[in-house]
Amino acid sequence: MPPQRGPRPKGRRPQRRDPQPIPVAAPAVAVAEPTGAVVTIPKSIAVGELARAMDVSVVDVIRSLVNLGTMASINEIIDFETATLVANELGVEVRPEEEAPVLTEEEAPATETVGAKEILWTDVDPAKLKERPPVVTVLGHVDHGKTSLLDAIRSTNVTSREAGGITQHIGAYQIEHNGRKVTFLDTPGHEAFTAMRARGAQVTDVAVLVVAADDGVQPQTIEAISHAKAAGVPIVVALNKIDRPDSNTDQVKAQLAEHGVTIEEYGGDTPLVPVSAKTKQGIEDLVETVLLVADVAELKADPDRPAIGRVIEAHLDKGRGPVATVLVQTGTLERGDLVVAGTTFGKVRAMVDDKLKNVGRAEPSRPVEILGLPEVPEAGDVLRVVPDEKAARALVAQNARERAAGMAAERPATLDEMFAQVKEGRAKELKIVLKADVQGSLEAIKSALAKIPQDEVTLAVIHDAVGDITESDLTLAAASGAVVVGFNTKMEAPARRVADSTKVDVRQYKVIYELLEDVQKALTGMLEPEMVESTLGHAEVLQLFTAGKTTIAGCRVADGVIRRGAQARVLRGGQTVYDGKVGTLRRMKDDVREVTVGLECGIVLENFNDEQVGDVVECYVVQPKPR
Ligand code: GDP
Repeated sequence: MPPQRGPRPKGRRPQRRDPQPIPVAAPAVAVAEPTGAVVTIPKSIAVGELARAMDVSVVDVIRSLVNLGTMASINEIIDFETATLVANELGVEVRPEEEAPVLTEEEAPATETVGAKEILWTDVDPAKLKERPPVVTVLGHVDHGKTSLLDAIRSTNVTSREAGGITQHIGAYQIEHNGRKVTFLDTPGHEAFTAMRARGAQVTDVAVLVVAADDGVQPQTIEAISHAKAAGVPIVVALNKIDRPDSNTDQVKAQLAEHGVTIEEYGGDTPLVPVSAKTKQGIEDLVETVLLVADVAELKADPDRPAIGRVIEAHLDKGRGPVATVLVQTGTLERGDLVVAGTTFGKVRAMVDDKLKNVGRAEPSRPVEILGLPEVPEAGDVLRVVPDEKAARALVAQNARERAAGMAAERPATLDEMFAQVKEGRAKELKIVLKADVQGSLEAIKSALAKIPQDEVTLAVIHDAVGDITESDLTLAAASGAVVVGFNTKMEAPARRVADSTKVDVRQYKVIYELLEDVQKALTGMLEPEMVESTLGHAEVLQLFTAGKTTIAGCRVADGVIRRGAQARVLRGGQTVYDGKVGTLRRMKDDVREVTVGLECGIVLENFNDEQVGDVVECYVVQPKPR
């Protein structure tokens, strides 16, 4: 069975996953006459799937969601309550599924072992495993020649094997070298690499690190090294642009060593191949070397089982409909197979490879474009062949539930969680992405961190660099279950968005001692949970009454709720004149626990009798930050 995920946090709105929701003109609301149809749906369901289940058009569903005040795209997951409202509007009765359909081993064959290199699915029978081609990602600093190198590798291969062959960019391509195949992912750079990994999609077997011989190790080279290492993927260095007169190979080799990549020539285990994407010098050597590294990794898969793969790219093609590039990871994908990809399913109507050739089968590590899915899946979605429609629907429902529950739900990605795990004796390693304003403080922090006793839990700084906290830092942390620690740093806006969506813990410090103390506490299970304040509501003071020495503030709740016993402050002209607690709360003559927006009430604050008409009572709670 796939791993169980926790329930979706209450009250959280379904996450918008499509950045451009389909615009729909909002017509007048019309509640349809019930048609008598009763449809059973899961507790959370994708918009497209709901439309299909009710046998209505997706546009109708989206339109009624708009009427309900929710802009939702086709892949968005909505909860049962929302689905019911939509269904009622469309005249369909929905019932919750009694129990999640349980999939047999064959239908949902495997738990993915994220990060494992050879065995991707636990039910793989070792006796049936056969060698498969390596999947390679090209990483490196901007302008060092990643794209040129990918083009050079492809064109070298095309010209030698099928002169004049037309190739298209489908997100990945496969070449042949001395009768052996190698797959290259066509989206270079560690952002894409780690974004996929953050979704549990570790498809890369070998990372080619491109370093320009005339420019040496640069910030993104260092990032790429950290990303590849965090993923446990072996590196092959492609020392590019050796045709340039100003190339300085020795200097680059020394710089690489400084950043933890020791090449074979220096006694390490990382091969380095001098190349020129321009003159094509060394390209064959590079491919040869990648194959040698792949041999060491013993990459295997079972070609004789229903296929499981990953969507690496997908888009809506005007003429052809949803098109997905899929990398088969195990099994063989065949035309006509019924497949589930994320929250959509359909029959594979056609498959083409990167040379625009129609193919009937795709073996492990082979990238193909498939047609036949009714909706566009997401990059990183698992694609899985299923025996029949029942299994397909069950798997789609399960994927929808998992998506709604949040993919990162199980990752120990906050210091608080580490603390909890350390206390329970479960945690072994605390991973940190460390950023600091200047090299001096970065070094000081690193050496101080190294001195913290690591008896129970070890500390691993998986990436450290000078500079603000970037999107790349966040995706690396999200994919690796790491905490981001910044010293005198700011966080870039795109990084903040990733932090919000992935819930990665970002801790920023201005005092080194506090940074060290927090890390130490997390390592020893002593960390206090971070407290956060959340506002419950506001009430405006309209009138004052007195009862003996007590002042009762007659208020109207302007927003949210006012709760007895909760914390409260009195705001007057922008100043806080009181900070304490709601002592008594009355509605009419009755003592009540809570008064909601729009209602009038009498508030007595603890130890405070100086309210004035026009004051605002702000009610709030302070709680440990949710984990
Ligand atoms: P990317 O940003 O890493 O994908 O780099 P590109 O592939 O776009 O290359 C950046 C620039 O370097 C382009 O102007 C290329 O023509 C040039 N370039 C790439 N490889 C070589 C090479 O081997 N030799 C020389 N002289 N220039 C190269």
